[in-house]
Parts: sequence; structure tokens; C-alpha cells
Amino acid sequence: DSPVLRKPDWIRVRAPIGETYSETRKIVKDNGLVTVCEEAGCPNIGECWAQKHATFMILGDTCTRACAFCNVKTGLPGPVDHDEARRIAEAVVKMGLEHVVITSVDRDDLDDGGGQHFADVIHAIRDASPTTTIEILTPDFLRKPGAAEIVIDARPDVFNHNLETAPRFYLSIRPGARYYHSLRLLERVKERDPAQFTKSGLMVGLGETKPEVMQVMDDMRSAGVDFLTIGQYLQPTRKHAPVDRFVTPDEFKAYETIARAKGFLMVSASPLTRSSYHAGDDFKRLRAA
Ligand code: SF4
Ligand code: SF4
Repeated sequence: DSPVLRKPDWIRVRAPIGETYSETRKIVKDNGLVTVCEEAGCPNIGECWAQKHATFMILGDTCTRACAFCNVKTGLPGPVDHDEARRIAEAVVKMGLEHVVITSVDRDDLDDGGGQHFADVIHAIRDASPTTTIEILTPDFLRKPGAAEIVIDARPDVFNHNLETAPRFYLSIRPGARYYHSLRLLERVKERDPAQFTKSGLMVGLGETKPEVMQVMDDMRSAGVDFLTIGQYLQPTRKHAPVDRFVTPDEFKAYETIARAKGFLMVSASPLTRSSYHAGDDFKRLRAA
């Protein structure tokens, strides 16, 4: 076992309490839905749920991959729940969401990697709540030809796929994925539908160097990526990859400045930034600009 680093003061997490939090929890449970907020043990759950902002996880709670940073359980998932799209749309309406984030586990077991299900969910939300902006955070659809196109053609407002870390760390951190495949996925979205915003994210604190982070930013920009999130990696349990170090708030600020200079339209870089953190607020601000 490697020693667990003590969390610095700037990693402060508010306890999930309050009436709105309970209401949100009830809507999620009543509709039989899964949120990544809970499954991934996200540190922002108190704040986000209190603001009725949640990220739904579709296609079940069991993933066919086993990334070393992720707390979602690995195994053989059950069959696709085709009623899920309707229930998500209903929850979006009940919660009055202006912006919704939809993500999923990885479904290497399905021929289309779950692409059609993503499209069904997008269409169901559009029909039920046409003004809600839809952000999706997708798997990489590795070895699933045509799957990404199905999702792109459903026309989400924001297409997010996280590169997560520098290429050097893929074998140990994201073993089922391929850096250049993920990068190319983001590029394909822009090529096929330039009206969609593309977004990607990075975790820092795994041992990466500053030049490596800048290289990933450059790779993203050359693939036309519009939005960037950078957050501190936190070890979910002792079985997961250890934290190499806690990146300081000042270093995050420096990354943000660099990223803006490289041309990203929206950048969120802070210790507790997660890919869906304040996604709606940022997007609203951009559309108003
Ligand atoms: Fe959920 Fe995203 Fe907020 Fe975390 S940052 S609680 S995953 S909406
Ligand atoms: Fe977690 Fe996604 Fe990796 Fe699955 S593919 S283990 S959900 S990060």
C-alpha cells in the first residue's frame, strides 16, 4: 500500500444536506435513475443537488472497463433499459432543469456501445423539454464503428469526452482506452456537426508534468475542442491509483490562464472542478455573450 496523502485545506466538501437536496434525491429515486454524482462519490454533490443540477448516468451502474481512478463498479452489465429515456425526460421536467448532463458507463458488450440509447435519451429530453440544453459525456466508442455518428446526429448542445490524463498514463490509469482514439472522437464531432460545442477534461495530481498538461491542451485545441475542465484527482478508495500530489489553487489558476490563451472558449480549472461542475451556468453565460 502506498501512503495516503492528507487532503489540503482547499479540498473542502460540503455535506449533502438541505431540503432541495432531499427533493432532488426523491425525484431521482422515484424515477429509478442513476446519477454519477452518487456512483462516483462526487465531492460536489451537496452543492450541485441543492441547485437542482445533476448528472444522470444511463445504461446501468456497471461498467465493462476498470479505470484506475474510477469508483464505478466493473462487471457484465444487464440488458439496456429502453424505458430509461422516458424516465430521464420526466425527471428533467420535474426538476425544471435548464441544462442537463447525461453520461454513461462504458458498454463494450453492446454492438453500438450504447450509441443508440444516448440518441434516444437526447430525443426524449428534447421532446419533453425543448428549452433544456443537453450536454453528453460519452464513452470512447472504441471498436464501435458508426456509434459516435448516431450520437452526434442526435444533436446534443455539448459533446463531452474526457481525455482524463496525459498519454503516458493511459496504460496504468485508463487501460481500456487509447489516447489518440479519444482525441479523434472529439475531432469527428466537430467535423460532422460544427454547431456542437465540444468539451474535454483532465484530472491532475497523478504525476503529470506541466509541459504534459500543456501538450494535452494543444492536442485538444488541434482537434477543435471548445471547453476544458481541469480538476484535482482524488483517490476514491485505497484500491485506486494513489494521488501523487495536490495541485495548488494558484497552479490551477495558471492552467486556466494558459488554457484561455490557447483559445478555449470556456475553462474551469480548480481543485474541485469536475466535468459537469457548474456546466449549466457556464453554458448560459456563453450563450448570453
Ligand atoms: Fe454531480 Fe457533476 Fe455536480 Fe459532481 S459536479 S455532483 S457529478 S453534477
Ligand atoms: Fe469509470 Fe468511465 Fe472508466 Fe467505466 S469507462 S471505469 S465509468 S471512467
